[in-house]
Formats: sequence, structure tokens, C-alpha cells
Amino acid sequence: LARRNVEMQARLIDDLLDLTRVSTGKLQLNIETLDVHPVLDDVVDICQQEIDAKGIQIEKRLDAVDHSVQGDPVRLRQVFWNLVKNAVKFTPEAGRITIRTWNQPADVLDSGGPAARDRGRTLMVQVQDTGVGIKPEVLPRIFNAFEQGGDQVTRQFGGLGLGLAISRALAVMHGATLTADSEGAGRGAAFTLELRTVPPEVATERPTRRHVALAPAQQPMRILVVDDHADTARVLNLLLSRMGHQVRTAGSVAAAAAAMSAGRFDLLISDIGLPDGSGLDVMREARTRGLVNGIALSGYGMAQDIQRSREAGFAAHLTKPIDLAELRRAISQIGGTPPQP
Ligand code: ADP
Repeated sequence: LARRNVEMQARLIDDLLDLTRVSTGKLQLNIETLDVHPVLDDVVDICQQEIDAKGIQIEKRLDAVDHSVQGDPVRLRQVFWNLVKNAVKFTPEAGRITIRTWNQPADVLDSGGPAARDRGRTLMVQVQDTGVGIKPEVLPRIFNAFEQGGDQVTRQFGGLGLGLAISRALAVMHGATLTADSEGAGRGAAFTLELRTVPPEVATERPTRRHVALAPAQQPMRILVVDDHADTARVLNLLLSRMGHQVRTAGSVAAAAAAMSAGRFDLLISDIGLPDGSGLDVMREARTRGLVNGIALSGYGMAQDIQRSREAGFAAHLTKPIDLAELRRAISQIGGTPPQP
């Protein structure tokens, strides 16, 4: 169990670093021409033990005729691995997972025309399962960082809700799209990646390095994070530290007050619901000490809540699950640096 915990921690940190790299534009892709089918075989091999342990049936229907794409083999494998791992995790014993590939004209509007073939085709890769499914109200948020489809899912399955956020970001960097479908709770789920194919014979001579949108460094700040949810505090700490900020965390109104008397901060990021009071109290206390910049985090973003947090002095109010891009934008605005695209 101890080793498993260490592995999980390591995995968590990898995910956080990836997410930070993606969100700060510092992730590099090593693009080459690669065949997707062997990558899928590989990913199934990696998960085979867990698949067998749960008595899950796995079916591969790799029907695509064109299955070469331009991509980063390590990163595409990571995306497929996330999808298959999730399918295994969220499918009960004796369920079924189907992995399909097929081709489609790149632009559906062009289909049928004699030149459609020449305009290139699309490789669709789908991982479908018969598992717990996704509620329609959760589906649109499923790719947000920290989204886990509700507290119950988190308690039952663990994890942090980063895999899909990273996978979608990686897909976007490949000019691909990643979408989720589910007919609802208990009805299974399907994740589909759509990639542009290239003819296998036109392999690139050497891999081209593509540096994706290097973001300017952000003004480093001293940030106090107040959240009683230990995972959230730890994640924010790691992410903000990786962005170059100095971070302290506190889990209550009292701990926040103690931190503020012990040191100086440029920015407060506080949860509203705290065990011994409210984030609004923390912001009021901060202002009396000259700390005027605050970002509120809360599970509810009702007009009334936002109004109250504004009155307490928060410059921004973000609702959980936290959208990383939004958080970064809010911090940039406060730090006086322009938000990154
Ligand atoms: P994690 O698995 O760590 O929670 P992910 O970002 O991989 O994070 O997934 C986010 C959430 O999406 C999961 O917590 C779960 O609610 C939902 N989800 C992902 N894959 C599936 C699936 N195959 N079936 C049902 N729900 C899924």
C-alpha cells in the first residue's frame, strides 16, 4: 500500500507538472509521423493486468485504413492511456471496453465529392465502455481541471480530475479534438479523438521540434492560499509555485490570520467555506493588514455570493472546479501583467 501511495503521489506530481507546462505554454511536442494502431495495442498491453483482474472484456476494432498521423508519440500515448485507464477504472466487473478506429473525410461538408480523398482524411479513435457513465449536467465540465463528476465519484475512485484536462490540452496542441459522450449515469461513456491523417509514405525525414506558444514569465508574487480541502491546497501550492510564485497555505480563518501576522503577502486566494468561518472574514482581516488583492474560490457562483465577496474586497470570484486558465487570468490581472492567450 505504501508503494502504491508513492506511485500515486509521483503520478499526481507528473500530472500537475504537465498541466502547468500546458497552461503556461511551456510544453514541447516532438512531432513525427507515427502509426497510431501499434500505440493503441501498447496501451492495452499496459492496462491488461487491471482489465483481467476486473474480468472486463476488451475488444479492438481497428478498422481505419489510414492510421498514420503527425504527432508526439509519447504524448499521444499518454492521451490514449488516460482514456483506457479511465474506461477500466469506471467500468464495473464483467463490463466491456471497445476501442475503435475508422476514417472519415476531414471535412464532412466535402464528403462525397470526387476530390474528398485528396483533401485528407480524419482518423477517429474511440474508447467506449459500459461503465458508470456521465450525468448530462457533468458532461460539459468533464474536461475542466479538478472536475470529477461529483463528490461521490471522488470518494469512490480517488484521483484528482486532471487526466482529461491534460488529455484535451494535448489533443488541442496536436490540432485534434477530444470529445466525450454518455447517455447518462449507468449508461457507459465514449471518448473520441479526431486526428488528421498523413500518408505513411511521406514520413518526415527528421522529427521537427515545435515550440508551442512560449508564455512570458509572470511577475512572481507572495501568495497565501486558504483552503481546508488539503488536496486542493496542495495542488494550488504546486501549480502556483511552478508558475514562479512563493506560496503559503492555510486551512482555516485562524491559520490564515496567523500566517498573515508572520509574513507579508501580495495576493490572497481563499475558499469561502472554511471550518471556523468564511473566506470573507479572511479578506476583511487581510485588508486591515494592507493585503488588498484577493481571489475568492467557492462551490457556488450565484450573483449574491459574488456580490458578497466583492463587498468583502475580493477582486475576482472563481467557482470550483477551478478553471486553470481563469485562475491564471485573474492572477495576471492582479499582478498587472497581461493575460496569456
Ligand atoms: P480522475 O480520473 O483523476 O478523476 P480525469 O480527468 O481522468 O480524472 O476524469 C475526470 C472525471 O471524468 C472522473 O472523475 C469521472 O467522473 C469522469 N470520467 C472520466 N472517464 C470516465 C469514464 N470512462 N466513465 C465515466 N466517467 C468518466
